[in-house]
Amino acid sequence: MTVKLQQIDDCRWRIPREGAMRTEGLVFADARMIATLQEEQALEQVRNVATLPGIVGPSLAMPDIHWGYGFPIGGVAAFDAEEGVVSPGGVGYDINCGVRLLRSALTANDIKPVLAKLADTLFRNVPAGVGSERRDLKVSLAEQRRVLERGAAWAVARGYGETEDLRHIEAGGMLPDADSELISERAMERGRAQLGTLGSGNHFLEVQEVEEIFDAAVADVLGLCTGQVTVSIHTGSRGLGYQVCDDFLKRMLQASRKYGIELPDRQLCCAPLTSPEGREYLAAMAGAANFAFANRQIITAWVRESFEQVLGLGPAQLRLSLIYDVCHNIAKWETHTVDGRARRLCVHRKGATRAFPPGHPETPEAYRAVGQPVLIPGDMGRYSYVLVGSAGAMAETFGSTCHGAGRVLSRHAAKKVAHGRRIEAELAERGILIRAAGRAAVAEEISEAYKDVAEVVDVVRRAGLGKIVARLRPLAVIKG
Ligand code: 5GP
Ligand code: MN
Ligand code: MN
Repeated sequence: MTVKLQQIDDCRWRIPREGAMRTEGLVFADARMIATLQEEQALEQVRNVATLPGIVGPSLAMPDIHWGYGFPIGGVAAFDAEEGVVSPGGVGYDINCGVRLLRSALTANDIKPVLAKLADTLFRNVPAGVGSERRDLKVSLAEQRRVLERGAAWAVARGYGETEDLRHIEAGGMLPDADSELISERAMERGRAQLGTLGSGNHFLEVQEVEEIFDAAVADVLGLCTGQVTVSIHTGSRGLGYQVCDDFLKRMLQASRKYGIELPDRQLCCAPLTSPEGREYLAAMAGAANFAFANRQIITAWVRESFEQVLGLGPAQLRLSLIYDVCHNIAKWETHTVDGRARRLCVHRKGATRAFPPGHPETPEAYRAVGQPVLIPGDMGRYSYVLVGSAGAMAETFGSTCHGAGRVLSRHAAKKVAHGRRIEAELAERGILIRAAGRAAVAEEISEAYKDVAEVVDVVRRAGLGKIVARLRPLAVIKG
């Protein structure tokens, strides 16, 4: 079924309200993206989300939108605290998947002579791949509960990184109100040996070079300059978060029936925010989110150690400091002004990044004048972007923007495109070293599998949702 679309301007499209929709859909995309979108079901998913009870504002889609479980990836939906619902499908299986970016005092030329050794060392020190485990960091059950309650702060207290890091993480690296008792034994078991691991496929650890600065004043505040080495870490809550999502989907399906919520698609199963089921999902989700914050924090410590080992320099010389850490699969309580009135909303961001504007109290002090850093990975063969949030995002998208380039090819189709090619050699020729847990992962993750992220962030810029600060080029990529 094709979805009715009305073009508003060169980067906005409306899905008019009809049938069971309680609100309209609003899609941020250019004409070319829209053309390809109409072939998949993602737009129908935007429409389905608009039927859920208590939705406030439009059902939103970012320019990296593609099909996801129930809700589209690249989707944002806000719900009223009293009338609204929370849905695991609106957060995604990888609860608090997210990205963090480190800057350094090094230039690309400093590391070029040792790049291969650095890639090998990072690959050895940070376990990657499906089901990757870390045998030397297996925490006890009691300790794991503390991880779920304290997030990145737990990791720092255990010697992984510095207190200063916590100031530069969304929500300070800890969602409040996590309740580890609500997390199943199976979820706990799955996560036990996975703290400090990257996971598979799309997750990565990337050593990068700042290739271009687009806003010198903002870049200066973020501590970025051309030629500088940065490191990006993209991972989430591993098997633990996956299992939490899976466990709650079953309960939410029952809850939807119990509370008489009509679902156009079972995958949208949800519960009222005021119900025990809704509150319990949020408390379990917060636990999984905190596990993910701790995960990225531990990996950060191993990245710093790896650089120290390979370059023979100390922390004061390397200055691998955390610029920021953002979540892109999460539901959060936030206050937003709707029709001139401040309202408490549960904002679902699934494959979408928070992008708060300058002056927002939740933006770290160091960045308050320029806006919250927004980290947008592209792909392993081209580039990634750093943006800052803007007032436009606050006005139109509950302070949100895209989270990546977004897939255009399925994993299967990507493998076909890669067939017979030597992807690693192709990349090496362009100065990009790949270390991957499996060959299939590299094929599935070729650049052609993703949109050109430059086009995606350009829509964000034109729509006024964010300001482009810098472009980063990959030098070495550790893939799951
Ligand atoms: P997701 O969270 O949806 O799995 O991935 C987020 C985004 O990361 C994708 O949309 C894609 O643009 C980007 N991405 C995936 N793999 C890589 C990689 O190896 N390097 C970089 N820089 N970006 C990647
Ligand atoms: Mn993920
Ligand atoms: Mn992700």
